[in-house]
Amino acid sequence: MKLLLKLLLPLFVSHSASCQNHEELREKMVRRQLEGRGIKHEPTLKAMGKVERHRFIPVDYRDQAYEDTPLPIGYGQTISQPYVVATMTELIQPRPGFRVLEIGAGSGYQAAVLAEIVDSVYTIEIVKELGERSRKLLKELGYNNVRLIIGDGYKGLPEKAPFDAILVTAAPEEIPPALIEQLKEGGKMVIPVGPARDIQSLKLVEKRNGKLKSREVFPVRFVPFTRKKD
Ligand code: SAH
Repeated sequence: MKLLLKLLLPLFVSHSASCQNHEELREKMVRRQLEGRGIKHEPTLKAMGKVERHRFIPVDYRDQAYEDTPLPIGYGQTISQPYVVATMTELIQPRPGFRVLEIGAGSGYQAAVLAEIVDSVYTIEIVKELGERSRKLLKELGYNNVRLIIGDGYKGLPEKAPFDAILVTAAPEEIPPALIEQLKEGGKMVIPVGPARDIQSLKLVEKRNGKLKSREVFPVRFVPFTRKKD
């Protein structure tokens, strides 16, 4: 028994030490990378201080989970830098009661951040294996208000439209028309638009009186928006 304790105790200690470590790193990330660069939306800051970003990162890169950088998540895809996630989240001004559509579930991290704030999140992922992995993780972490759909997000999700907000995390060359249609009157969409594997422009698009108002936020580099043949 004593021997068993001796063997197991360090495991418990190191587990709680690493949890504490992650929490501290997360706080630092929020303070320095987000608040320090002007992110003010309180629910966004709170959500990013809570979601365990390291759980969404493959073990090989987990020690960099709270660093100021995008990271590989497998299948040639990447999770965005924390500041980009925070900016996109803040721009749609999410609040309880919202129904949000995300195109490009990837690791599931952005969906989890949104799920901390809004009522329901629908997120579409085109890479089946990645979608299945992220769906399992989101379930494990208790995000019951996220529905991850595997497929091509080009046509959006008409059966759940209209959406209060739409967030696109892969870059198309043009905004897919179905996404504009599925945005509620008064709704906001954030989307990187531009050539694949080059610099794109992150855009905030608002639908008012049936018309679109668009502004450029900053230049970004996202993974390409790919298409499945029908
Ligand atoms: N929001 C993600 C970022 C993932 S990168 C996160 O928090 O981790 C963008 C993702 O968009 C990739 O996983 C890519 O496979 C996916 N993607 C690209 N084109 C798509 C499409 N047409 N429909 C759905 N997902 C797409």
